Amino acid sequence: MNIASAPASQAAFDPNFHLSDPVGMTEELRMLREQVRRFVEKEVLPFGEAWEEEGKIPREIFVKMGELGLLGMRHEEEYGGTNMGPLASVVFAEELGRSSFGGFSSSVLVHTDMSSPHITKSGNDEQKARYLPDIIAGKKVCAVAVTEPWAGSDVAGLRTKAVRYGDDWVINGAKMFITNGVYGDIFIVAARTDPGAKGSRGISLFIVESGTPGFSVARKLDKHGWLCSDTAELVFEDVRVPAENLLGVENRGFYAIMNTFENERLCIGAMCAGESQKAIELTLDYVRTRTAFGGTLWNLQATRQKLAELAGKAAAARALTYHAATQAQEGIDVSRDVSMIKAYAPEALHEIVHGCLQLHGGTGYMRGTPIERMVRDARILMIGGGATEVMYEEVAKRM
Ligand SMILES: Cc1cc2nc3c(=O)[nH]c(=O)nc-3n(C[C@H](O)[C@H](O)[C@H](O)COP(=O)(O)OP(=O)(O)OC[C@H]3O[C@@H](n4cnc5c(N)ncnc54)[C@H](O)[C@@H]3O)c2cc1C
Repeated sequence: MNIASAPASQAAFDPNFHLSDPVGMTEELRMLREQVRRFVEKEVLPFGEAWEEEGKIPREIFVKMGELGLLGMRHEEEYGGTNMGPLASVVFAEELGRSSFGGFSSSVLVHTDMSSPHITKSGNDEQKARYLPDIIAGKKVCAVAVTEPWAGSDVAGLRTKAVRYGDDWVINGAKMFITNGVYGDIFIVAARTDPGAKGSRGISLFIVESGTPGFSVARKLDKHGWLCSDTAELVFEDVRVPAENLLGVENRGFYAIMNTFENERLCIGAMCAGESQKAIELTLDYVRTRTAFGGTLWNLQATRQKLAELAGKAAAARALTYHAATQAQEGIDVSRDVSMIKAYAPEALHEIVHGCLQLHGGTGYMRGTPIERMVRDARILMIGGGATEVMYEEVAKRM
């Protein structure tokens, strides 16, 4: 067959760089994508810049998402969830990524996929019944507090302590860089419960509610990007929680954290895929209308080649993420894959948004243009949830 006359492949990009659906997409997931995309267009895009200025997203946005059933996809039906699994999380995270407001996406995904799943995975029936309905309805916002001023990548080095006194645990220590930390309500907190145990052993998880005496926000952190998501340094001074707030098995918290990282890394891959596509779409629109040298920027081969190169990287990050999510949905171990994704997708996104900003010229350097914000927002993804170098180690361990 003459290649030139071959029918266009189904996987071809349409003029707006919308990638075709990956294998494994069901009608239900397609509807979810459409629903989230409509929600973002109506409820996020018109307000995102104002939220960036304010340094927070309104609580009502969580409630609205709860009403649409978007906050319970990783939780069981009996508590109000839909229990849809990792592919749904990936579709959701990709569409949030396409919003171009990384701060919004991160606040929501920390709530849905990085903190509250600890309750579903490790919680007992009483804890699930007590916390999940409000989390799924968006009435309570959830956060996860693992990182400390003295321990980030080295999770096993955390020093916050919890000591058992009778029917209570008393927590002392500090947490750093906690998303939803300023305005959140329910915190999944990692603390050392066996001072004699070394490293990863002897860490447990606790549910701590905002307003508990001794638990406070030391400061709201001022960031480079993700401006509409609140990030806190937290302090625990003799914070007393009842024994029933221990989440999961005492001294096994490290393994629960690592287990939830898997989903977190899939979601970060999907967020990167969505942001990458959005950046390329914005840039295609720009270069096709910007005139220079008697044509448009798109008429310049260097522009086309750059965008084609970046499009390939965006597609690779997306394919890797969907592949792993499909495997995870089937119960296959994807621990190596998710580390590869977390290493590759944010680095690719970083290159993509910078390449796209370059093609916007001076306009792209101006505050108020989406690509300028996207460049700032993208940077953290190479650090948070496991820095690239740490991910390479995780991959290498499994080679
Ligand atoms: C905006 C934001 C939101 C966050 N949200 C949360 C949250 O909600 N909950 C939470 O618990 N944490 C959160 N974090 C923390 C985040 O996960 C940590 O910042 C991250 O794990 C890195 O830890 P660190 O900052 O202490 O860097 P460090 O561990 O001090 O590492 C610094 C750098 O050293 C290099 N490095 C580290 N280890 C290795 C290694 N083994 N090999 C080679 N190089 C290495 C990497 O380049 C790394 O970036 C957030 C951080 C930010 C900035």
